[in-house]
Amino acid sequence: MSDAELVLRSTRVITPEGTRAATVTVSAGTITAVLPYGAAIPATARLADLGDHVLLPGLVDTHVHVNDPGRTEWEGFWTATRAAAAGGITTLIDMPLNSLPPTTTVDHLRIKQAVAWDKAHIDVGFWGGALPDNVKDLRPLHDAGVFGFKAFLSPSGVDEFPHLDQDQLARSLAEIAGFDGLLIVHAEDPHHLAAAPQHGGPRYADFLASRPRDAEDTAVAALIGQARRLDARVHILHLSSSDALPLIRAARADGVRVTVETCPHYLTLTAEEVPDGASEFKCCPPIREAANQDLLWAALADGTIDCVVTDHSPSTADLKTADFATAWGGISGLQLSLSAVWTEARRRGHTLEDVVRWMSTRTAALAGLDARKGAIAPGRDADFAVLAPDETFTVDPAGLQHRNRVTAYAGRTLYGVVKSTWLRGERIVADGAFTEPKGTLLGRPR
Ligand SMILES: [Zn+2]
Repeated sequence: MSDAELVLRSTRVITPEGTRAATVTVSAGTITAVLPYGAAIPATARLADLGDHVLLPGLVDTHVHVNDPGRTEWEGFWTATRAAAAGGITTLIDMPLNSLPPTTTVDHLRIKQAVAWDKAHIDVGFWGGALPDNVKDLRPLHDAGVFGFKAFLSPSGVDEFPHLDQDQLARSLAEIAGFDGLLIVHAEDPHHLAAAPQHGGPRYADFLASRPRDAEDTAVAALIGQARRLDARVHILHLSSSDALPLIRAARADGVRVTVETCPHYLTLTAEEVPDGASEFKCCPPIREAANQDLLWAALADGTIDCVVTDHSPSTADLKTADFATAWGGISGLQLSLSAVWTEARRRGHTLEDVVRWMSTRTAALAGLDARKGAIAPGRDADFAVLAPDETFTVDPAGLQHRNRVTAYAGRTLYGVVKSTWLRGERIVADGAFTEPKGTLLGRPR
C-alpha cells in the first residue's frame, strides 16, 4: 500500500464479506486493498476519515431515462448525473428512448455519446433499442458497446419507439441470442391492456384498473416462452405484478436465463395512498396495492427479484396533468432512490448490505460491469457513497437536482443522508457541492 494516493477509513465499510471497520486504499482511481481499520497510513496518502458514516460501493442504476438530446427540457445528462451523484449513484445506463434520436442505430448512439461526454458527473453507459425495423442494427450496436437492447411489448408512450409483436420479438431475440446479448423488456401485453376498462380521469383506482396485473403476467409468460425456446438471455424491467413471480421462479428452476428488476416506487409507495389527480405517481406498469408490495419484498428477499433500479423517467411539469389517462407516465426518483429503498428496507428488517446487493452489486452484474463496479474490493473502481444511515431528511422538491422538480416523494421523511460520493477516487459531491463533471462514457466490457 506504499503507493496509495488516497486512504478512506470508516468503522462501517460494506464489503462482499460483510460490514466491518476497515481502511480502503486507492491508487490511480482503483481500490488496491481493504485493510484492517488500524492499518498504518502512508505519509504521502491523503486520508479521508469517515468516522461512523457507512462507506458503500457507489450505486449502479441500470434504468434511467436521460432524454438527451431531443427532450432535454424533461431531463439531460448534466442534471441527471448531478442528481444521481447527489444520491450516491456513480454509474447509470441510459435508456434508448425519449431522447431524439432514440438509441436504435450506431449513428444515433454516436449522437448521444457526443452530447453526454462533457456533461457526465458519473459514469454513463447506453442501452440500445430493439424496434420492429432495426434487426440489422442490433449487432452493429452490440459491437459499438451498448449493454443490451430494450424492447416494449405494448406502446411505449412515444411514437418514434414502436413496440414489438410476438413475431417481431422472436426475430429480434433470435438475432440478439446469436451474439449472446441481453434483451431487456417492458412486459405488458397490449391485448390485455386494450381489454381493460379505460375510463380516464383523475381517479387512481380507474388508472390502476386500466393496467391490470394480468397484462404483465401474460407478457412475462410469453417472454419466458421465447427465452426458453431460443436459449436467450432476457431481463424483465420494472416488475410490478407479484402474480408473475411464480412464473419467474418456475422458469429459473428450469434453467431459463431470466433476471428481474423492480423499482423504488413499487417498494415504497402504494395504490391506496395515491391521491386522485396526483399523476406524479403515474408510471407503467402502475404502483399497486400494499399486499402486492409485500410480495415484491418477499421476492427480493428470496432472490426471485435480482435488483432495484429507479426507472427515473421525468417530464416537464405541464405534462403531469390531473388526468391519469393522458398525463406523462414516469416517476422521477433518481436522487432519492437509495434513501427511499433504505427507509422501507430498514422498516422491514433488511440491512444496508441487502440494499447494496440490490442496487449496486447485482445491477453491475446485470450490465456485465462486475469486474469494475458494484463492490468494495481490490481491483474495482474506487466508486463510493458515504451514507449516514440513521439521519433523516424530509423531501423538499426544491432540493432536487433533477431538471423538473416534480416527485412522488415530496414531503416524505426518509432515512439515509448521502454525505459524499466518490468516482474513481475523486470526491465528486460533498454536502451539496459538486465538482466539474468527471464521469466517463462506458462501453460493454468484452
Ligand atoms: Zn423505463
